[in-house]
Amino acid sequence: MRKGFLIVISAPAGCGKDTIVERLLEKERDIRYSVSTTTREIRNGETEGSHYFFKTRKEFEELIERGEFLEYTEYCGNYYGTRKAAVMDALDNGFDILLKIEVHGAEHIKKMFPDSVLVFIHPPSLEELRRRLIKRGTEDLETIEHRISVAVREMSMQCDHYDHYIINDDLDKAVNEIRDIIHKKRREQQEREERG
Ligand code: 5GP
Repeated sequence: MRKGFLIVISAPAGCGKDTIVERLLEKERDIRYSVSTTTREIRNGETEGSHYFFKTRKEFEELIERGEFLEYTEYCGNYYGTRKAAVMDALDNGFDILLKIEVHGAEHIKKMFPDSVLVFIHPPSLEELRRRLIKRGTEDLETIEHRISVAVREMSMQCDHYDHYIINDDLDKAVNEIRDIIHKKRREQQEREERG
C-alpha cells in the first residue's frame, strides 16, 4: 500500500484558502482533512469538529503538556495546533492528509515530514485582501489591520520552505493547480515504489 503524504496549504487570511480547500476536498475524495484545535472564538457558521476543535487555553495547554500535538503555534493571540493521533492514523492507512495551517506550523511539518508538499497561496494584491476581509465581516477593523500586517510578514518570510506558490486570482485555476501538484506527487511516489 502506498504511504500517504501531507499536503500543507498556507495563506494569509482572506486569500480564499477556505474555499480552495473546500473545493479541493470535494474533488479529491480520498484526501483526509486534518481538523485543527484552537482557542479562538467560534465564528458564525463554524461547527465543532468540522472547522476546528474549540478549546479553552487551559485545555489546550494540557494537551501541549501531554505531547499531543504534532505542531502548534500562537497566532494573533490564539493557539492553533495539529493533533498527532488523527494524522498518524490516516497516514498509516495510506491516505494523503491536507493541513490548512500557518507558516511556522508548515515549517515544522516540513522538518518532521520532508516528503510533505507545501503550497502557499497569495492574494491577487493587498488591497484585494483588505476588501475581502472587510466583506467577510467576521472581524472588526482593528483585527483586520492586524491580520493584514501579519499577512505582509507572512508573505515576506514564506520564501524558502514552500514547494509551490499559487496566486488566487481565479478559484478554479488555483484549485486545478493544486490538484496537478498532488497528482504529480502521487505519480512520483508510485514510480519510486515500483523502482523499489
Ligand atoms: P483562522 O483563525 O483564520 O481560522 O486561522 C488563523 C491562521 O491559523 C490561519 O493561517 C490558519 O491556517 C492557521 N491554523 C489553523 N489551524 C492551525 C494549526 O493547527 N496549526 C497552525 N500552525 N496553524 C493553524
